[in-house]
Amino acid sequence: MIRTRFAPSPTGYLHIGGARTALFSWAFARHHGGKFVLRIEDTDIARSTPEAVQAILDGMEWLGLDHDEGPFYQMQRMDRYREVIAKMLADGSAYYCYTTPEELEQIREAQRARGEKPRYDGRWRPEPGKVLPTPPAGIQPVIRFKNPQEGTVAWDDMVKGRIEIANGELDDLIIARKDGTPTYNFCVVVDDWDMQITHVIRGDDHVNNTPRQINILKALGAQVPQYAHLSMILGDDGLKLSKRRNSVAVTDYADNGYLPEAVLNYLARLGWSHGDDEVFSMDQFCQWFDLNHITPSAAQFNTEKLKWLNAQYIKAKDDGELAELIRPRLEQRGLTVTAVPALPAVMALHKERVQTLNELADAAAMYYGEVKPNPDLLAQHLIPAAVPALAEITAALKSIPWEEPAIEALIKEMVTKHGLKFPKLAMPLRVLLTGQTHTPSVGAVIALFPRETVLNRLTAVKY
Ligand code: GLU
Repeated sequence: MIRTRFAPSPTGYLHIGGARTALFSWAFARHHGGKFVLRIEDTDIARSTPEAVQAILDGMEWLGLDHDEGPFYQMQRMDRYREVIAKMLADGSAYYCYTTPEELEQIREAQRARGEKPRYDGRWRPEPGKVLPTPPAGIQPVIRFKNPQEGTVAWDDMVKGRIEIANGELDDLIIARKDGTPTYNFCVVVDDWDMQITHVIRGDDHVNNTPRQINILKALGAQVPQYAHLSMILGDDGLKLSKRRNSVAVTDYADNGYLPEAVLNYLARLGWSHGDDEVFSMDQFCQWFDLNHITPSAAQFNTEKLKWLNAQYIKAKDDGELAELIRPRLEQRGLTVTAVPALPAVMALHKERVQTLNELADAAAMYYGEVKPNPDLLAQHLIPAAVPALAEITAALKSIPWEEPAIEALIKEMVTKHGLKFPKLAMPLRVLLTGQTHTPSVGAVIALFPRETVLNRLTAVKY
């Protein structure tokens, strides 16, 4: 049984890189009919907040990445970590260390002076036949893991290939602080063990933790999971993603009018590929996804491509569903969505031409709110040659059947009758009605509005 987990630290919003890690872990479990576990790594109490936990849960829900188990909270598992530490102290795979921070600094300074790599020197590490110093009075010890000193620790990373580290490079990790609280790497190990995680898929900022975690797992007699370390995501500019320069929170994408299915599809292709396939559903992705086609090099974000994908998903989306996504956006702008025109009909006419939901809301706004055409645009398009045709069409619109073919036919008739080129009449109609020069077919736009509104807008400006 394949078991994966997503283990975010709730210190901010759900990051777009975190979302990709979550997606890959989720899809791998789904592909294999396994389980996907959500674990909140909230032991950094100074930086973890309930708001950040909520942001993660909301982000996962928005994306539709459903978990089978959890969320588990590390802060609720303290007793379990203490229990494992006690067991390790008893079996000798961990030991008390009374070295004070000041002493540690002295040790390191001496090592540096000798040209050695600064590290804990193992003075409290028990060895057969070694006599340990007497514990000093009044000093609370930390607890260290007794890392093997010989040999190497190695794993076949499913993304990066084989990685091997000499154990001699690793010093004895502190697994519990003076006050007894377990440290980060230790909690991860106990959790991955207890939650029977078979595949750890995470960002490659954790590669350095892996050899230590493997050694502790082995000391516990636990099965070592497979590891897949995902390379980082760079911004459009090729630089590390940063809050200042990029949209990094998943909620930014929601606010900026992206559909979750487009974001997921985009993230799926960020560092993973299936031939030339670009647009695919999450069902399809789960069928295809494996860890063998992940690129080890950094993936670069491409906002244009995301927008293109978003446009594909908007076009393909049901008009009624789109209407329900656009309605709150219009209400936020203080607009009331009236029965005429029906919002789904507006969606149908405009969804082909936009890349984001915000652009779709912009397009829909002209049907429900005031339109004030810009005077320059009016001057540019309300040319004297168009005025007689405009006056005549306004009169005729009062009585013709209110449907697109009849309106289209009327515009064509007026164009011919007044010897105009089509745009010479279509453009002033657009500007007067919508305040814009780019719209779908002007006949279709007119047909959506109530007749009253059209007549009012065509006569609101003196020409
Ligand atoms: N909590 C870690 C983070 O948010 C992830 C740890 C892990 O996946 O092992 O970066």
